[in-house]
Amino acid sequence: MYGETEEELFKNAKEHGIQVHGYTEETWNKEISKNKEQFKNLIKRS
Ligand SMILES: [Zn+2]
Repeated sequence: MYGETEEELFKNAKEHGIQVHGYTEETWNKEISKNKEQFKNLIKRS
């Protein structure tokens, strides 16, 4: 994953989740809201 800003990273990750992992916008947003801090750490390392 790549992105200039955190916002862009989130957007790219979301598109990836939807296209590759079969999330819908709704299920993706639910997952992110549950795991937001964890997710931020994950995308900072990648
Ligand atoms: Zn993936």
